[in-house]
Amino acid sequence: MRSVDYRDSDRIVTLLTEEYGKISALARGARKSQRRFGGALQPYVLMHAHFRPGRGELAHLECVSVDRSFHQILRSLAAIGSAGAAMAVIRERVPDHEPEPAVFDAAVRFLAALNEGAPAEDALLCLQIRVLAVLGFAPTLDRCVHCGKTPAPGRAASFDATRGGIVCRGCGGGRLVLSAGALRRWVVVQATSEFPEQPWPDRERQEIHDALDQLDATHATVSVRERTAAVSGRWESRTS
Ligand SMILES: [Zn+2]
Repeated sequence: MRSVDYRDSDRIVTLLTEEYGKISALARGARKSQRRFGGALQPYVLMHAHFRPGRGELAHLECVSVDRSFHQILRSLAAIGSAGAAMAVIRERVPDHEPEPAVFDAAVRFLAALNEGAPAEDALLCLQIRVLAVLGFAPTLDRCVHCGKTPAPGRAASFDATRGGIVCRGCGGGRLVLSAGALRRWVVVQATSEFPEQPWPDRERQEIHDALDQLDATHATVSVRERTAAVSGRWESRTS
C-alpha cells in the first residue's frame, strides 16, 4: 500500500496482508539490489510475501513473489487517483495487525476491477461502502434510525451521518438527501462483492459521495480500533 525510502538502501513498506492484517516491514537493500525483491515492491501488486517479526512494530521482509500485477491502473490518471484514495482509506481505517480478510478481499477485487477499466470514481465509492460495512460502520438505510419507520418504496430519504443513517421527517430529517436510486444502489453494493462495469448516474454518484464524506467526518473522531473491537468483541478476548 505504501513504500518509503529508509536509510541509504532500504525501504519501509506498508502491506495489507490476508492473514496478518496491515503490517509495516523493512525491506533491506530494496533500493540497491533488485535481487531479493525484483520489481515486486510496486503499488497495486498482489504478492506472496515472506516476513519475520522484527523488534517493535516493524517486521523484516525476507522475499516476495508477484502473484498478480494490476499495472493497467498506471495507464489512467483517474484509476491512479482512485487506487491511491482507496489505499489511503484502508491505511487510515484498518488497524495494524488485525486480520480483516473481507477488507483484503474487497481491496483485491477493487484493484482487479480498476485494472480492467471499471469506472474509477464509482469503484472507489463501492470500496468505501464495503470497508465501512466490514469495520462495523455501515449506516442504517432501510428504516429511520430513530423510530424505525421504513421509508415509502421509491421515495427519497433524509440522511444524517451523525445519527447513523436515514432519519424520517417526523424525527427531524437530515441534512442530505439520498434518492431512491442511490439508496437501492448503496444497499446492493453493501450486499455484494462486484464492482460496476458501467458508470453510475451522476446524481446518485454525487449523493453517495456526499453521504460517505459526511460519514467520514463523523467517524474521524472515533478510534477505529475501539469501534471495531466493540463490534466484534475481539477486544475482550484479547485482554482476558
Ligand atoms: Zn423516525
